[in-house]
Amino acid sequence: MKNSFDVNTLVRENVLKMKPYSSARDEFKDFDVAQMIFLDANENPFETGVNRYPDPQQVSVKAVLAKQRKILPNQILLGNGSDEVLDLLFRAFCEPNTDNVITLPPTYGMYGVLASINAVENKEVLLSNDFEPQVDAILEAVNENTKILFLCSPNNPTGNSFSDKNIVTLLQNFNGLVVIDEAYIDFSKKQSWVNELDEYPNLVITQTLSKAYGLAGIRLGICYASSQVIAVLNKIKPPYNVNELTQKRALTRLADKEKIEIEIDSIITQRDHLLKVLLEVKFVSEIYPTEANFILIKVDDANKRYNELIAKGIVIRNRTTQPLCENCLRLTIGTAEENKKLIEALITI
Ligand SMILES: *Cc1c(COP(=O)(O)O)cnc(C)c1O
Repeated sequence: MKNSFDVNTLVRENVLKMKPYSSARDEFKDFDVAQMIFLDANENPFETGVNRYPDPQQVSVKAVLAKQRKILPNQILLGNGSDEVLDLLFRAFCEPNTDNVITLPPTYGMYGVLASINAVENKEVLLSNDFEPQVDAILEAVNENTKILFLCSPNNPTGNSFSDKNIVTLLQNFNGLVVIDEAYIDFSKKQSWVNELDEYPNLVITQTLSKAYGLAGIRLGICYASSQVIAVLNKIKPPYNVNELTQKRALTRLADKEKIEIEIDSIITQRDHLLKVLLEVKFVSEIYPTEANFILIKVDDANKRYNELIAKGIVIRNRTTQPLCENCLRLTIGTAEENKKLIEALITI
């Protein structure tokens, strides 16, 4: 990394200058809260379990995550799903109608949507035919207004993880933020890039409780980065962006590491079984390697096969309109029973 990296040179000027909203609870966090009477926030004093505003800094959840990931709580920001975390990155670092980001299709659609919402140019540099980042083309696309490079690894919808070598080259040669979206990291044999945070000041990692942790309904997304990057995001995040029920539910689930691991193992076993069965399905021409809880396959006619499965009551994702994904379908791994029904359908259509 160029030692010149200074996150404040990337931050939008209005964000650098602004004074953040301060909640009453922020101001009194060092007091013995249990002994105090709170008549500051216009809450209803009668107990409902959630009549008080939630902890704006989610101290308990961050403490657990920091311990599990072996980092500091000030290297963590939580959001209302990773989608909010990604949006905060745009809003903190990308000047509308001026700055740009780089994304690598075929990939997660939200990066492009968020770029549009924030009036930020999305420079698309296709993945190679084996779904790896084209490092030279990416570095060529960078200009002085390029603030963020989004790498999704394991990538959605292709399922593969990017090579370490490519990621390291990008981290070392791009002087903006490199966001690695690790929504599917728990299904991969690869280590999380969280372990490399101290190596690369421009590294930002997003994770989520929506996939391996089985909590898509509570909306909890996680951002890991240097304490400097996290401080910028904290400055602009809505004060109470992670609600009390979500924080409570996340804590219970995070405490149940064993159960989560059993579920992940089961999904991986099911995935490996489905990979084998797919070899026998005659209209499947390609099965792409996967380190996620889904499989991308190429078929003879994606629209036809998609509709045939719908007719049998099975909904998968048709990715045929994505670049490099002509006639491709994405199958999420379900329970053993669901997968059995999928397999039955695949061999009878
Ligand atoms: C599913 C998914 C997410 C999860 O988003 P949440 O808002 O946390 O539910 C993030 N990134 C990718 C690539 C995904 O596929």
